Amino acid sequence: MILIVEDEPKLAGVLRDYLRQAGFKTFWIANGSAVVPWAREHAPALILLDLMLPERDGLDICRDIRTRSSVPIIMITARVEEIDRLQGLESGADDYICKPFSPREVVARVRAVLRRSEGPSLSPVSGLILDQDRYQATLNGQDLELTAVEFKLLQFLSVKTGKVCTRQQLMDSIYPDERIVADRTIDSHIKKLRRKIAFIGAGSDFIHSVYGVGYKLEPLAEPAPCPADKEESL
Ligand code: CA
Repeated sequence: MILIVEDEPKLAGVLRDYLRQAGFKTFWIANGSAVVPWAREHAPALILLDLMLPERDGLDICRDIRTRSSVPIIMITARVEEIDRLQGLESGADDYICKPFSPREVVARVRAVLRRSEGPSLSPVSGLILDQDRYQATLNGQDLELTAVEFKLLQFLSVKTGKVCTRQQLMDSIYPDERIVADRTIDSHIKKLRRKIAFIGAGSDFIHSVYGVGYKLEPLAEPAPCPADKEESL
């Protein structure tokens, strides 16, 4: 899901159309003060952020988001000289685009920024991204909100894709200090992990139990379904 923050409806509509044609889901917000609460709840894959907005300006929003998230942000400004100033202020944006822009260029920049931010941590499962630095896993652009233990389990299974991992291996992966934990503990963590995955991506059951041995991660044949398209404006 790409969040478009733009107070000019016509421009927002053009961006939405081009991004949709390129296969992205979008959501449009016109009001500066609505951005942070929405982003916190919906964890967009990327934010296109206009600089001049009613109620709260883009720079302020960008800095606020950066204190809590490293979601890719592309700032859009109407003045080319603003770009130097914005870069100097270390707003935390990943890229800057000047108006007037070609929508094609925006789509290309969106793709480039997404590639850069997701490149090293893509997992074998379509739509699943594991961010080692932040211990964060997203499925179809939505945060799975895993605990550190759940993240480590998912990462270990992901590295061993297609191979059966015994409970002992999984225990070693999460507790390298050789703590003694019951088999049940692993089962309980995996159960929670699968529940979170099922909650975000219905039908995305890529962790399978192997009777009497442990678990294995098997990529889906089909891409996981994306969350429902929300196209209303705020
Ligand atoms: Ca504006």
